[in-house]
Amino acid sequence: MKRQHPTEPNLFWCPKCQTYKAREEFNLNQLWCKLCQSVAYKQWAQRNKDRKKEYQAIWTKQHPDNVKKHNQTGYKKHKKERNFKAAKYNKEHPTQVKETMRRNYEKYRDDRLLSSKINHQKRKESLTDVYVKMLLNEQGLAVSLANIELKRTAIQIKRIEREMINELR
Ligand SMILES: [Zn+2]
Repeated sequence: MKRQHPTEPNLFWCPKCQTYKAREEFNLNQLWCKLCQSVAYKQWAQRNKDRKKEYQAIWTKQHPDNVKKHNQTGYKKHKKERNFKAAKYNKEHPTQVKETMRRNYEKYRDDRLLSSKINHQKRKESLTDVYVKMLLNEQGLAVSLANIELKRTAIQIKRIEREMINELR
C-alpha cells in the first residue's frame, strides 16, 4: 500500500495531519485518519449550515409573500416532525405503547361494536354487494356477479312480500 510506513507494517500516513497512525485510526478506503475526517466533516457541515442561513435570509427578504404563505402552511412541517417523533417514541418504548393500545382497545370497544352494528344495518337496508356476498357465503352459494344480482332481487321480493302480508293483517 502506498501510504504504509516503510518499516512498520501497521502504520499508515495521513496526508492531512502529516503523521503516521495505526491502522485502527483509519476508516476503510479513506485517505485521511478518522480524526481528520471527523474534523473536516464538522467544518463542512457548519459551513453548509451558515451558507444555508445566508441564502434563507436573502430569499426571505426577496419573497415576503411566499414567506407569509409558508408560515400559513407551516403546520404541515410540524405535523411531519410530530409524526417522526411519535415513531421514534414507539420504537423506543414498545411496552408502554402496547399497554396504551390495549387500554384504548378496551375503552372504545363499545363504540366500535355499536358502529359495526350500525354499519351492518346500513348494508342490510341498502343491500350492498358486501352484504349480499356475505349471505351467499353463509348459505354456501357461489359468489358471482349473477348470483349477487339474483340474491339481491330475491331478498327485495321477500321484503315486499312481508310488507304486503303485514298490510293484510
Ligand atoms: Zn490525520
